[in-house]
Amino acid sequence: MDEIRQRVSLLSSTNKTEQEPEIHRCNKCKDLGGRIQRVALSDKPFDYIDKWEECSCVRDRMVERLMGSSKITEEFQQKTFRNFEAEGRPDVITTAYKTAGEYAKNFFEIRKTRKNSLALLGRPGSGKTHLLMAVCNYLLKKGVGVHYFPWVEGFNEIKDNLDTLDTRIRQLQQAEVLFIDDMYKGRQKPTDFQAEQSFAIINYRYLNNLPVLISSEQTIAGICEIDEALGSRINEMCRDYKVVIQGGIEMNYRLQ
Ligand SMILES: [Zn+2]
Repeated sequence: MDEIRQRVSLLSSTNKTEQEPEIHRCNKCKDLGGRIQRVALSDKPFDYIDKWEECSCVRDRMVERLMGSSKITEEFQQKTFRNFEAEGRPDVITTAYKTAGEYAKNFFEIRKTRKNSLALLGRPGSGKTHLLMAVCNYLLKKGVGVHYFPWVEGFNEIKDNLDTLDTRIRQLQQAEVLFIDDMYKGRQKPTDFQAEQSFAIINYRYLNNLPVLISSEQTIAGICEIDEALGSRINEMCRDYKVVIQGGIEMNYRLQ
């Protein structure tokens, strides 16, 4: 019996030396998420409190998680205010750039109000998606959950998975911030399905003061022509932060 015990202990000790060193994602806190910090309250020996000090990796990890569930592609994660080319472009593009920047700056003050949303409308290729992505990336870094919904692809995905329709719509209704990209793209009129679901999403967000970011080639008047109830809600939500980019081909950076 003793012999067996000896052999077991021998085995486990050799195992230990062969064990690979533990790998941590964060070397500062060894993935504990922080450390206990002793704070003396006076110079008496037992007069202290232990405080939990959070490691910076907790925040990094949260941003990573938010980024992961945002549906924002790697390419779009690179879009920032800094790498937006505003110089030498028409005034209205500069206005769009400034409006998006103001919105990002004021977001935390206005997010719970009725007029908490941003719309960049009009000409294709004018940089609307880039600017709205810059807002998304800014907010994600501040710990705000953003959900990206490209109109055409998003609805195709929903239609391909109708058994999860309710869950998906609820996600879009309740996301902290929802970015609807290229609303009404692809056809003159939305399908009945698109019209019904987009109203359910926007109306929920309208009633609950949840922000939306919208890009569309349509103006508010155009959206109202297609769906007045939807257009008027979007107009109210985006009243303070709305730019319509009109004009000719010179607005399109893809052609320059
Ligand atoms: Zn850490």
